Amino acid sequence: MDILLMGPPGAGKGTQATLLCDALGLPTFATGNLLRDAVRRGTPLGQQAKAVMESGQLVSDDIILGVIRDELDAPAAANGVIFDGVVRTIPQAEGMERLLAERGRRLNAVLFFDVPDAEILGRIERRRGIEGRADDDPAAVAIRLQSYREQTAPVLAWYEQRGTLVRIPAVGPVDDIATRVRRALAEHGS
Ligand code: ADP
Repeated sequence: MDILLMGPPGAGKGTQATLLCDALGLPTFATGNLLRDAVRRGTPLGQQAKAVMESGQLVSDDIILGVIRDELDAPAAANGVIFDGVVRTIPQAEGMERLLAERGRRLNAVLFFDVPDAEILGRIERRRGIEGRADDDPAAVAIRLQSYREQTAPVLAWYEQRGTLVRIPAVGPVDDIATRVRRALAEHGS
């Protein structure tokens, strides 16, 4: 089963991805974490991505589709993957669909974590105090939210047309949201 988690920065995708990983026994894959790790280790990928990420902008579609292909070819991903924040542009959505189709797979569900803007800003500010991420400073956050609205929000409509999008109201206790996720997958995740 392949599941994509979407939503603005700070929507709680990572938290729910971890819970789903435990519940379904599938690996999670987050491009943000993979790229941050590459930057920390100073790999060629990290060197390419560092400045773009720190400014809050999106890494190129080619880079993202390359890392998705690598992930799909990993033996641990053979039974499905929980993709966390991996698709942020229409070309990435198209490329991901093609890469899955080449392997006889498709996204079984796209879960959209819906959180109002005011809540998002408060969550990122709190996370900045805890994790100290370079791209959580206010200027980079503003750019990330803008690139989300301009490039990623249209992807929701793209999935909606295909009938794979499920909206999850994502404000409230973590456990309540996890329950909504489980129900959504039971109803739509086929
Ligand atoms: P957030 O969801 O708060 O933006 P992430 O940890 O998911 O945080 O991503 C951090 C950064 O990594 C993004 O701002 C972007 O620069 C880069 N990134 C992650 N995933 C993608 C993607 N699919 N396409 C382009 N850039 C990405």
